[in-house]
Amino acid sequence: TDFWATIPEGPPDPIIGVNDAFKKDTSKTKVNLGVGAYRDENGKPYILESVQKAEDILYQKKLDKEYLPITGAEEFTRLAAELAYGKDSKPLQEGRIAVAQSISGTGAVRIATGFLAEFYKGPKVIYLPNPTWGNHIPVAETVGIKVERYRYFDKKTIGLDFAGMKEDIEKAEPGSIILFHACAQNPTGIDPTQEQWKELSDIVKAKKHVSLFDMAYQGFASGDLVRDAFAVRYFVEQGHQIILCQSFAKNLGLYAERAGTFSMVTSSPEEKDRVLSQIRRVIRPLYSSPPIHGAQLVATILGNPELYQQWLGEIKKMADRIITMRERLYDLLVELKTPGDWGHIKSQIGMFSFTGLTAEQVGELAEHAHVYMTKDGRVSMAGLNEHNIRYFAENMSKVVK
Ligand code: PLP
Repeated sequence: TDFWATIPEGPPDPIIGVNDAFKKDTSKTKVNLGVGAYRDENGKPYILESVQKAEDILYQKKLDKEYLPITGAEEFTRLAAELAYGKDSKPLQEGRIAVAQSISGTGAVRIATGFLAEFYKGPKVIYLPNPTWGNHIPVAETVGIKVERYRYFDKKTIGLDFAGMKEDIEKAEPGSIILFHACAQNPTGIDPTQEQWKELSDIVKAKKHVSLFDMAYQGFASGDLVRDAFAVRYFVEQGHQIILCQSFAKNLGLYAERAGTFSMVTSSPEEKDRVLSQIRRVIRPLYSSPPIHGAQLVATILGNPELYQQWLGEIKKMADRIITMRERLYDLLVELKTPGDWGHIKSQIGMFSFTGLTAEQVGELAEHAHVYMTKDGRVSMAGLNEHNIRYFAENMSKVVK
């Protein structure tokens, strides 16, 4: 049969493509700075000790593998919401936050946009920062929500274009959906300050926009879970009925376990129940019900004071190692008399640094030095360590000169 003979080749995923190129490269000195996953000081994937202990506890319990409810494991969603919103959050205490387990952060964004596409009465337009995590665009478009952008990155200062950001959010049609990265913006590593978040909250309120927070890196920005939740908690305190997409991929190193939540602040427990009944209708035809193991691991850690404390230490350790790499890279670039100002490498936060390298320079690094990163010049700082940082800095310096 020739049913599929006319199917055109799809374009490669820009991030996965970097990984493939890295795998094919046979050089011993090759460095992968493409993928957004933490690596330890030897460049190896890192399994948190708190996670290993939780695995042991679960193994001993010999739990069954029966289906979860459509909205996921109850203990998990309860503890995850407390972690994001804070135990003393008013809407949480009042029982008016709708929470559903999701297939990690991506699945949460898909539930959020799927729900909005069907039920939101305002303009079906989502404003994404420019630049943003690449997957935001197709996830929104696939459910028929129109994608617009607001200014975010200022090429000149390699910092936040706050004036542009405010202007674009202000100019958006009232009631638009505005997506914010809760912390550690991907790919720029640049976040608004707490004062700037307060201004943004006022604008969003005045314009009656819907705020959708994508929180994929709680704890990874500052090493402190509470500090990284500032924007989310501030907006909620200010009365915004936010939507939140939460991922445990990065902060617990549970990438492939796909543990996350979708949640939404509503105005009453009764409204929450109605919203959840429709969220179930969004989820059911997508995958029926979510996977159990990752959610059990997260719930075991969040629900056990000893493991929770250990996890806090491990997050801090990951965040601190990345901060050290930022300092080392900055010092080396200065030592190597690299033209330009590299202060942004130290001031940016989270997993990534938006270096300012051009697509050509990125190409040269891959071709001549076997160093791989995304074309926009984004470096996954976690891919750097004491063994490869000088090699990377020397080659980066070379392509800039
Ligand atoms: N949102 C942002 C901003 C991200 O950077 C990522 C991952 O890189 C995600 C969401 C989704 O991650 P996951 O689906 O693995 O939780």
